[in-house]
Amino acid sequence: SLALSGQKVLVFGLAKSGVAALRLLRQHGAQVTALDARTEEALGEVGREVKALGATLVTGPTPPGLLASQDLVVVSPGVPLALPEIQAARSAGVAVWGEVELAWRCVSDVPLFGITGTNGKSTTTALTGELFIRGGRRTFVGGNLGRPFSEAAMAPKDWDALVVELSSFQLEGIRTLRPRGAVILNLTPDHLDRYASHAEYGAAKARIFQNQQGTDFAVVNAEDADVMGLAREAKAPVYGFSVSGRPVVDAPKLAGLAVAEEGGFRLDFLGERYRLNNRALRGAHNAQNAMAAALLARLGGVAADAVQAGLDSYPGLPHRLESVRVLDGVEWVNDSKATNVDSVLVALRAFKGDLWLIAGGKGKGAPYAPMVDEGRGKVKGVLTIGQDADTLAKSYAGQAPVHACGTLAAAVAKARELARAGDTVLLSPACASYDQFKNFEDRGDTFKRLVGAL
Ligand code: ADP
Repeated sequence: SLALSGQKVLVFGLAKSGVAALRLLRQHGAQVTALDARTEEALGEVGREVKALGATLVTGPTPPGLLASQDLVVVSPGVPLALPEIQAARSAGVAVWGEVELAWRCVSDVPLFGITGTNGKSTTTALTGELFIRGGRRTFVGGNLGRPFSEAAMAPKDWDALVVELSSFQLEGIRTLRPRGAVILNLTPDHLDRYASHAEYGAAKARIFQNQQGTDFAVVNAEDADVMGLAREAKAPVYGFSVSGRPVVDAPKLAGLAVAEEGGFRLDFLGERYRLNNRALRGAHNAQNAMAAALLARLGGVAADAVQAGLDSYPGLPHRLESVRVLDGVEWVNDSKATNVDSVLVALRAFKGDLWLIAGGKGKGAPYAPMVDEGRGKVKGVLTIGQDADTLAKSYAGQAPVHACGTLAAAVAKARELARAGDTVLLSPACASYDQFKNFEDRGDTFKRLVGAL
């Protein structure tokens, strides 16, 4: 199928996906050059691995003419396709594929279910994987989350289904990738550092639909006008999901709708109802993720009872409204992934009230007012940590009691003192973690350790 043997291929960018692509190319007998802007010293173990795989390693600035002399350039998602040397190679007639496109060419006999959007990709991908696995499919779950897609392509015969998270950067690099089912969850301003406009960002996401045909299907958030606009491009039938039951008007005709209802959701077009009482999927945002995943699974051929079983057993991803412990009637929740105000809003909406909010860290400059408003009547007190504590305290002045704690350890101790049975202590920081932690995972793990020790 894919004639890579003996071809000169350059892999641009040696993070996890790039190295996985390199391994795949070597498996297919390509003659590989690996390029990374970092020094060989900075690459460390990766550099040695690349050489051990029989590739030529080139580090530092891109040598002039190197890309243009290849048969194919495979680009890691972290490397912008707009780089002058990549554009020049394209003009010289060199094929340029993203890592995901390369993988697809090696595994295109297996049905692929692709998930994109600004928020909820990882949750929806992990949950969809759970539903397919419950349905008895040998399922690869990965892409932008977890394992690079190229790993699936190393052993195409191992899989009945591919559930793949696709970022907008990855979608920029596809040419023939054709999902059997494709979801766009939502579209909010993001990555405006890398995209000239919201429209351009949307266009990258819409590429997930571009190669679909009539026998495939598309799934969209029927309440998101921008997403519905992108669905106009779809050649496959479009299914929607809606929390309110009021999809945007003036939209493409939907082949079917999933609608949230008390305690779960229904798939109108199939006459099916599903329960949603898994703690790992609380909140309206997770109802959306669950409906998207259920649509992918049902339309992808997974049986209804397996879908219900998967919705019940889904364990959740760490650091996303993760229930850590119930101690003396107080639930402790780790939402360390909430590094911006929008994510905190989503978290606050998932609870009825009696919250102690631990927030702060390296602020992103966005106003905290929306989370102050959303928390009115729900947040009993705010425990601040990190660099942006003062700004947070000012925003909450007169709205909720603020306890300046400084460190996460102090905040956990203070919350232990203040919280009563029936309350929830929520770490949802609205800030990056880099002032006090390695990353949001480190922050969340620290929280779990502290709470575990209470
Ligand atoms: P991604 O992989 O797109 O970053 P995640 O599933 O990791 O998405 O969720 C990241 C954060 O985005 C969550 O902590 C939550 O605050 C928010 N989120 C999750 N799902 C949705 C959704 N459907 N709509 C809006 N926000 C969401």
